[in-house]
Amino acid sequence: MYFSTAGGRQEEGDMFLGCHLSTTKGFRAMGETALSIGADTFQFFSRNPRGGSAKEVVPADVAALASLLQERGFGPLVAHAPYTLNPCAENAKTRDFALLALSGDLKRLRGLPGTLYNLHPGSHVGQGAESGVRLTAELINEVVEPDEPAKILFETMAGKGTEIGRSFGELAGILGKVKLADKAGVCLDTCHIFDGGYDLAGDLDGVLAAFDREIGLGRLLAVHVNDSKNPRESRKDRHARIGLGEIGLEAIVRVMSHPALKHLPFILETPCELDGYAEEIRLLRGRLGEEGPLARWPEVVPVAELKARLAASGTKTKEDQGTRAKKTGEAPAKSRAKGGSKSGSKDVAKENAKVKKTRG
Ligand SMILES: [Zn+2]
Ligand SMILES: [Zn+2]
Repeated sequence: MYFSTAGGRQEEGDMFLGCHLSTTKGFRAMGETALSIGADTFQFFSRNPRGGSAKEVVPADVAALASLLQERGFGPLVAHAPYTLNPCAENAKTRDFALLALSGDLKRLRGLPGTLYNLHPGSHVGQGAESGVRLTAELINEVVEPDEPAKILFETMAGKGTEIGRSFGELAGILGKVKLADKAGVCLDTCHIFDGGYDLAGDLDGVLAAFDREIGLGRLLAVHVNDSKNPRESRKDRHARIGLGEIGLEAIVRVMSHPALKHLPFILETPCELDGYAEEIRLLRGRLGEEGPLARWPEVVPVAELKARLAASGTKTKEDQGTRAKKTGEAPAKSRAKGGSKSGSKDVAKENAKVKKTRG
């Protein structure tokens, strides 16, 4: 598999589990942070999630991460496209931005072959789902080259507003129109499909059978693991911490241990700080009988200890959060331990700011 090496993974088929991380400290730092919370995969924003500007990528930093991934047997990483990217917008200018951002991101990720590039299929904003499906597929066909090392993943959506990609049928419609079929797949978000109406908690086999019938389980390449603040079919997209939402811990454990899914990278996008992610990873690995990198690599320093060292060295930890708040105009996020917010997407952005604070 992707980055598995002889010195890395103990046995083929181990679970890859991680969470969304901030890019503030660079690429290699993300890999080290991931290890420190017991993660062996992670997700990051390909560029500013709300604006669209892209930070310069330092090739040496990307190469340093790539060697860490290889050394430690990471699973495939997930780069999340900005929320402002709407590949099926009616407005040609908005579609042009999507095209430029997408092709720029793919170029910047070339140093990390095998990375999965996750994007929201878009909002048709009144043109109708059929046009949305067609425009999104057309944009992918314009951008993706036959030698593209990344794979494009369309995320299953909750169906807020005019979002396309709530139904497996719409995702199948997009994939069916993408010419380079082996370059495109799906990322299943547990909160989104539950919120979109699929009974993930009560009938996982039924949901996966429907997915297989309409899209094909072979096209499923990653899973976003989130509990849902709202009951099924609410279409609100509000993520909750694992076990604190309407899906519940048991159903999430069933998803992660399902034979059709357990080989996939699992990414948490729950509303919590780095400590919270470490806790969720520990909880899930415990339930699934998986040890993960902290057991596999005894020299890796757990996040709690890293924080203690930072505190002891007097490192300021507020800087990053301040910078983030200035850039986005958002107030620095306060503790929100109960989980849930107006939108799951917002969660990731805000939590991203908090993660930075935690990481210092
Ligand atoms: Zn997303
Ligand atoms: Zn998601």
